[in-house]
Amino acid sequence: KKIIITLDGFSSCGKSTLARQLANELNYVFIDSGAMYRAITLYFLRQHIDWQNETEAVKALGKVSLDFRYNPITGNSDMYLNDENVEALIRDMLVSENVSAVSALKAVREFAVAQQQQMGKKKGIVMDGRDIGTTVFPHAELKIFVTADPAVRVERRFKELFAKNPNITIEEVKNNLEMRDYIDSNREFSPLRKAEDAIVLDNSNLTREEQLSLALKWARE
Ligand code: C5P
Repeated sequence: KKIIITLDGFSSCGKSTLARQLANELNYVFIDSGAMYRAITLYFLRQHIDWQNETEAVKALGKVSLDFRYNPITGNSDMYLNDENVEALIRDMLVSENVSAVSALKAVREFAVAQQQQMGKKKGIVMDGRDIGTTVFPHAELKIFVTADPAVRVERRFKELFAKNPNITIEEVKNNLEMRDYIDSNREFSPLRKAEDAIVLDNSNLTREEQLSLALKWARE
């Protein structure tokens, strides 16, 4: 029987890596909900939208069309914003610096959550984010709350970003993670929380293989 698996947690604790591996193993669809918030943020930045003005934000959202398309080269799904592949662009520091503020807006959450719930109509999905087990799929069959030591998370994120941009500093990465975690857990609308029925997975001292086999065991129980 195909189920819905949710993975929530702070920034850069390895949620999407695990979600992608789980989806591969189980032949499920992986959905990176953060990519959707990042694509909306990219659109707002490009169009110079004053997003604190709710009317302006709602109007802009009306012109945003998001979808995931399979990339045969990487084997992953890429985020498309109005038919443009923005998978690489949405990982930019400028987007990372603004995404938590944009994600805190009620109109933005309603827009993204409605589309995420639509994707869940077909079972057999793994979705990672901040509010998937609490707000998007409160009835998901398996909920995992992923955590890792802050220092481990900074290190992992830094390595990932440094490979693409050697000008990036550890400080910059650390500040960005701290800021996003703070805003994400303190915002008014569906803040980052562990769902009551979520299993905690601390992967600070686990290899990718170890955390995958744990999660697979839960998925098959
Ligand atoms: O997962 P990722 O780090 O790419 O997410 C980027 C940002 O998008 C998060 O810091 C958070 O502000 C927002 N987000 C959210 N709800 C989700 C997924 C992401 O608010 N379900």
